This record gives sequence, C-alpha cells and structure tokens, in this order.
Amino acid sequence: MKAVVVNPNSKANIDIIEKEIRPLKAGEALVDIEYCGVCHTDLHVAAGDFGNVEGRVLGHEGIGIVSKVADDVTSLKIGDRVSVAWMFEACGRCEYCTTGRETFCRNVKNAGYSVDGGMAEQCIVTADFAVKVPEGLHPAQASSITCAGVTTYKAIKVADIKPGQWIVIYGCGGLGNLAIQYAKHVFNAKVIAVDINNDKLALAKEIGADITINPVTEGDADKIIQEQIGGAYSAVVTAVSKAAFNSAVNAVRACGKVIAVGLPSETMDLNIPRLVLDGIEVVGSLVGTRKDLEEAFQFGAEGKVVPVVQTRCLHEVAEVFEEMKQGSIQGRMVIDFKSNHCG
Ligand SMILES: [Zn+2]
Ligand SMILES: [Zn+2]
Repeated sequence: MKAVVVNPNSKANIDIIEKEIRPLKAGEALVDIEYCGVCHTDLHVAAGDFGNVEGRVLGHEGIGIVSKVADDVTSLKIGDRVSVAWMFEACGRCEYCTTGRETFCRNVKNAGYSVDGGMAEQCIVTADFAVKVPEGLHPAQASSITCAGVTTYKAIKVADIKPGQWIVIYGCGGLGNLAIQYAKHVFNAKVIAVDINNDKLALAKEIGADITINPVTEGDADKIIQEQIGGAYSAVVTAVSKAAFNSAVNAVRACGKVIAVGLPSETMDLNIPRLVLDGIEVVGSLVGTRKDLEEAFQFGAEGKVVPVVQTRCLHEVAEVFEEMKQGSIQGRMVIDFKSNHCG
C-alpha cells in the first residue's frame, strides 16, 4: 500500500512510500482509507516539532471502510465506515478514561504521531476506538469533522453556552468556520466572529455569524463586544495568536468562560483582578471523546454543519503541505485515496 510518511530529508518533510501492512492483532480492524484530511498538526509532526518520528505514517483525519477484523472484534464489521482520529486509543482504565475525559488519558495514542495514521491506502485501527460514520455524511466531509469538527463542537460544549446567549469565536479559518456552524445551528447561540481576514469574515457571515469584527480595521474586538452587547457569555479561541487570547478574556462578561483551542507557542497575559473580581474562567479543550465525535458526525449527517473541503490527489500531497505552510488554502484539503483527479 502507498503511505505518506515523515522524512526530514524530503520536500515538506514527507515521502510517499510503498509499505507492507502487518497482520492484525486481537482487537484490531483493517480500514481501506477513502479520504484523509491534511491538518496543521501534520505539518508540526512532519517538521519534528513534537520530536523525531521519521518513518511514521501521518494522518489523523482518515475515513475508510473496514475490510477485515480480528477474530475477537465485535464492535465493527466488514463494510462499516469508520474514522481514524487524533485520539487513536486510550487506556480505558485510568481516572480520565473512566470519568468521560479520555482525551486526557496519560497513555493516549495519537494517530499519525505516536502510531501509524490514516494518510495511507490502509490503516490498522483499535476497533473499539474507531468511531463509525453515520449514513448521509460524505466521507470527505466526515474527514474534516474527525479533527476540526469534533474539536470545535467539544469546545462549545465546554463553553456551556445556552440558546440565545452570545458566544464569540476568535479565528474563522478551518476550525473557526466549523465552530460558528456548531454554535449557531446546533447550540442555537448568537455568534460573533472575529478575524483579521475579510474573506474569512465574509464566509463567517454566510454560514451564520450574527456580528463580524475585523480588529485591524475596526478596532479592539473586546471593546466593541462590551459596547454592543455588554460582553459575550463565552469565547472560543481558535486563532493561533496571543492577541486573540488576551482579547477574549476582556470580551466576556462577568462569570464568562474563555475556551482555549488554538496553540500559539506563547504565554497569554492574565489580569488577576479581572479573573478574581469578575469570576472569569479560562480553560483548555483538547479534541473530543469518541462520544463527542459520534455526536459531531451526526450533526454533519443532518446537514446542520457543512465542512468546506477540497479533495486532492495523493501524488500532490507535498504541494498541499507547502500550500498549507504558506497559508494559501481555503477550506480543508483532503487527500483522496480512491481516485486520481489529475489523470
Ligand atoms: Zn487535525
Ligand atoms: Zn486512560
């Protein structure tokens, strides 16, 4: 099978190689991959930012069809469509796993990083952790929900927003545009979208944002939000920018919640009197559990959330990585493992 692996000596730090898939062990299933999205996390893994994993098969946005299961597997059957997500497997026994917080398991395995992932023609999954994709959801769109979708859906759950309340989404790119859709169409919140790119704000408006703010041309988003609506009930920060995090703390009203999703490698300023006197909560949110992903998929299948995806051929994967590095991409790039578009 063909697989996209980490190679620090190649273009974009990746190679397409021919790889032999090993036999299944107990509890495993073999998945014939249809689509796998390319994520900024893949760029970080390939660049060795999280440690050297040369030879690792990338990909944590894989969708495919089960073609074989180990004898003891009862949770999946041949023909099921399943996902290969960042949370590939957790221990199932620790305090996090047994209290609905399995993404924080200290022994978690991550697809395309600590174990071989879904950016290949085939992938071996731990059957009990591969979440099924419901009928009615296109596999290329499911690919995007496997990472960006579940991450933002979970963040809004953590934000604890109620119908009719204001939520502000910082960053309207790959994560943010899904956050807006989940907030608006699933949680029935009122949505403020903040981004420094007017094209992204136009898309935000189109998919349901009630208010859009460009801080570069309109001034501080937090000031505008406090003036116009008296502060948001919560803020989800998908932007990879310290400025956005600092603004979010000032954009919420008393007892507001700031949910950190984006990962800038910086520290944020936290005004302690602001936290204490106004009871502000700042909390991180990491991908989502299997249950979160099942729910996020279902809302996609019902058409409440529609990921913007573009499919590309496997042989273009290095170019896709380069384009992502340059930020010249609209929507999610998804590698098609079933057909070649270029001929
Ligand atoms: Zn991802
Ligand atoms: Zn665990």
